[in-house]
Amino acid sequence: MLMNRAKALKILELLEKKYPNANIMLARDKFQLLIATVLSAQTADKQTIKVAKKLFQKYGTPEKLAGASLKKIESTIKEIGLYKIKAKRIKSIAKTINEHYNGKVPASMEELLKLPGVGRKTANIVLGKGFGKQEGIAIDTHAFRISRRLGLSKGKTALAVERDLMELLPKEKWTRFTDMLILHGRSICKAQKPKCEECFLNELCEWKNG
Ligand code: SF4
Repeated sequence: MLMNRAKALKILELLEKKYPNANIMLARDKFQLLIATVLSAQTADKQTIKVAKKLFQKYGTPEKLAGASLKKIESTIKEIGLYKIKAKRIKSIAKTINEHYNGKVPASMEELLKLPGVGRKTANIVLGKGFGKQEGIAIDTHAFRISRRLGLSKGKTALAVERDLMELLPKEKWTRFTDMLILHGRSICKAQKPKCEECFLNELCEWKNG
């Protein structure tokens, strides 16, 4: 059974108090945001931003990235994990946007999910931060782990957790919620050793109290 809404809203309130400026932006331009988000999979944001900056200095538009050779893209992003797969993916995304969307990132979930290698997490980030549209909640590793620990969801997949959070939280907070959980996961609710004794959510947390 889902946690009750009042408790979820209390958690939201406390997170907002603790992380009032949570707004993780990998890039401002919509296309660059999409590509940087794809690059960020299993990579720290600091490293993603560094590599993305290098990439966008050379190939910052769909046209330029689509026209670059795979070898050149690979050598530009080789400092990040899974760079070969990511190089192929971002070139293919750029090509699709260039050829089918007139060089513009599509603004709907349905169209974004058709792009090669783009899943709901990436689409939610692009829609939320690039277009200001709240269509879902991006579930990354922090959001997944912490939502389950808190008892906001018992879902076993990112999609199930996302659905539960969407039922519990006001729509206008969806994009920010992920960012706050990321900050909380980096500083307190770490994957290996969560610092429950110093956590401002410990009275409400099922993991700690369970
Ligand atoms: S009490 Fe512990 S498990 Fe719960 S949110 Fe805080 S750090 Fe994470």
